[in-house]
Amino acid sequence: MDRRLYLIKEGEISLKGLNRGLFEKRLKHNIKDKLRPHGSDMTRQKGRIFLHVDADCPHELVAKALSTTYGIVGWASAVTAAKELDRIKEAARKLLEDAGPTEATSFKVDARREDKAFPIRSYDMAIALAEVVHEVHPSLKVDLKRPGLVLHCEIRDKTYLYLDDNNGPRGLPVGTAGRGLLLLSGGIDSPVAAIEMAKRGLKLDCLYFHAYPYTSDEALEKVKTLASLAAPYLGGTRLFVVPFTDGQLNIKAKSREDATTLMFRASMMKLSSQVVRQEGMGCIVTGEALSQVASQTLSAMAFTDSMAEALVLRPLVGMDKEEIIRTARRIGTYETSILPYEDCCVIFSPKHPVTNPDKAEMTAMYETLGMEDYIKQAISETRIYSYDAMGRPNGVYGYGEDGSHPLEEEGQG
Ligand code: ATP
Ligand code: MG
Repeated sequence: MDRRLYLIKEGEISLKGLNRGLFEKRLKHNIKDKLRPHGSDMTRQKGRIFLHVDADCPHELVAKALSTTYGIVGWASAVTAAKELDRIKEAARKLLEDAGPTEATSFKVDARREDKAFPIRSYDMAIALAEVVHEVHPSLKVDLKRPGLVLHCEIRDKTYLYLDDNNGPRGLPVGTAGRGLLLLSGGIDSPVAAIEMAKRGLKLDCLYFHAYPYTSDEALEKVKTLASLAAPYLGGTRLFVVPFTDGQLNIKAKSREDATTLMFRASMMKLSSQVVRQEGMGCIVTGEALSQVASQTLSAMAFTDSMAEALVLRPLVGMDKEEIIRTARRIGTYETSILPYEDCCVIFSPKHPVTNPDKAEMTAMYETLGMEDYIKQAISETRIYSYDAMGRPNGVYGYGEDGSHPLEEEGQG
């Protein structure tokens, strides 16, 4: 079968000394995972990965895969030619013709010679290829500063030519920094927190506290949609849906009204820590930002932190809402996050929550609630929705109290 070629520029991983092999292996694995069931293979040379895919694999699919895979700085769909000037010019002409008419009014040629034994210098190559561009698009003017079209030519083991130079998401390959558990709500923040950590190589599963019927089925659907939208950036993910209505009602019944949110957040930390332990993960991730709401003041976060039995990472802690929204728009979760289904925090929110809680007092209050049984029960009734590396649902599972997976697979989510 015919195959198509993509040229991938690696990022920071080319700097990672001894770990470099591992990082590259993971990056290749992550790319391959997304392109299944289509066949793909990869070779590597000096900061470049050459990806070959079956010709029946749609370009849009490869584009989505590469633009959501951390560790990739840029990518292009490329053609090759032998290292002879006439062959190179011929391939460049065909590449330009196949790309069709252009809206650009200017161009430049970006020529690079990795193979220094090749006799034509980059400058001369650029001149030769500029002639070809002129022949195909006679109206284009050369503009080295702000060209509308760039013809790239890299001389390596072969000649590689490409026109589209796409940005990758940069960062480090997901799975090179361990695993964590994201507390995913229906809001704007937590999906952004997920991808900020994925960018540093953390592999994440998601966990949502569902308080049915106080939080609706629509609210759950919204969270499932967010998980599936984030999944390509996370290299696939699982969404743990924890039924926590009884726990929430217990908190509402037994704790002081102004402290209910903090008691809920403390139990979230306790339960999540248990899942983190059972799953062998290294941290909890939340979408909290300093001073965003009452439970996100320094003393409130210090209290919830003290209830966690795992490292808690808050990648958005110093970010403005506007910065967060910008990222949410870029990754495509914003429109879903702003859908108006209430989440449980809204229904169980006190009118005047404490903003400067006393840690010892709050800890003592939590002790009186008897949350352990509720937590145990909720974990044993947790369901897991799984999403593959392209965000497609690929199974629903039960979850045992001890972290086993006792129920048979229950079909598609
Ligand atoms: P917004 O994006 O509107 O701020 P939010 O989801 O961030 O909404 P907060 O009340 O600010 O809501 O919650 C802070 C963090 O706590 C969230 O970013 C998320 O990590 C976690 N969280 C809140 N509610 C839930 C929930 N029901 N299930 C799981 N995690 C939650
Ligand atoms: Mg928030």
